[in-house]
Amino acid sequence: MIPFNRPPLLGTEYDFVAQAIAGNKLCGDGPFTKQCTEWLNEYGENGRALLTTSGTHALEMGAMLADIKTGDEVIMPSYTFSSTANAFALRGAKIVFVDIRPDTMNIDESKIEEAITEKTRAIAPVHYAGVGCEMKSIMKIASDHNLFVIEDAAQAMMAKYHGKPLGTYGDIGCYSFHETKNYSMGEGGAIVIQDHELYKRAEIIREKGTDRSQFLRGQVDKYTWVDIGSSYLPSDLNAALLCAQLIDAEKINQNRLESWKSYYEQLKPLSDACFLEMPTIPAECEHNAHMFYIKVRDIGVRSLLISWLKKRGILAVFHYVPLHSAPAGRLLGRFHGVDVHTTRESERILRLPLFYGLSIEDISKVCDAIMSFAKAHPSSAIWVEG
Ligand SMILES: *Cc1c(COP(=O)(O)O)cnc(C)c1O
Repeated sequence: MIPFNRPPLLGTEYDFVAQAIAGNKLCGDGPFTKQCTEWLNEYGENGRALLTTSGTHALEMGAMLADIKTGDEVIMPSYTFSSTANAFALRGAKIVFVDIRPDTMNIDESKIEEAITEKTRAIAPVHYAGVGCEMKSIMKIASDHNLFVIEDAAQAMMAKYHGKPLGTYGDIGCYSFHETKNYSMGEGGAIVIQDHELYKRAEIIREKGTDRSQFLRGQVDKYTWVDIGSSYLPSDLNAALLCAQLIDAEKINQNRLESWKSYYEQLKPLSDACFLEMPTIPAECEHNAHMFYIKVRDIGVRSLLISWLKKRGILAVFHYVPLHSAPAGRLLGRFHGVDVHTTRESERILRLPLFYGLSIEDISKVCDAIMSFAKAHPSSAIWVEG
């Protein structure tokens, strides 16, 4: 059986976690949390980082920091995880979905401006598969219209756009360290904040609305309730696990990139023969091999291929059902403009097994199985217009 995902594990985590247990301090902001935060501060260039209990919670903090209120509107793609929308819906905002680009599955930057109204407060671009959105255009629109930018970089740790890490272009970047992501602490995440005042508020929000962080640094002599907030501080036990992986972040990244390239090379003949489409990486993007996906002709071919692979012990999976067509999305949001690509592309995408340590032999098995499917189903090729 070739699983779709296996949580990253280098082996060094055991020692780190044992040290955390022996240290007798398992609550938040212990030595491993500090080490992870230092790593993230360096990674985040001028931004400052805080570890969080999840990527979802990082997004929730982002919505609080942007002061999103009832009646505000937030623009995002419909092709994303529920957490991107929930973070803002929880603050009472209306979600305004715009179409995606078919090449990267990211928000179509050319459709954002027309979706802006006087209620629009923020844009939440999602870097799908660790491939950057067109951040230069998005930041220009945001500055022209005085909008906050909260990047959902949950999948984008170690990925760059014009040489700079994704998640450091907007006011706030949100990362996930869930076990399905490239770097994992089981459940966890991080927020990277560019503005210093905003960072100070984030510390408070993360500590149940108290100024406990300043108290621990001796900056105030008692701590008290000063703002809204919640419990977004992860245990040092989880941070210990993550710490081991961040130290070797490049090793994990290179291993995933090799797997990604191997898929790409082996499936190239099928893409040349118009049987499937491969992911597009724009020239200005350095991706992190978070995902390797193919696109087949339609949902029917995809279902057949999923079963074909499953029979051969390979787990390949589809991804998001567009949020605007989901029950909560219909209630809490609206789609601006025409859904040209979102639904159609979401029905064609198939994600192949990809995780740290996936063997070249297993990648070849997956590719061989897809090739045998193509041979057995010649009429399932993609119709090429023009
Ligand atoms: C994983 C993910 C999240 C949520 O992260 P968690 O750590 O699981 O809460 C949010 N947005 C996107 C795009 C994701 O892939």
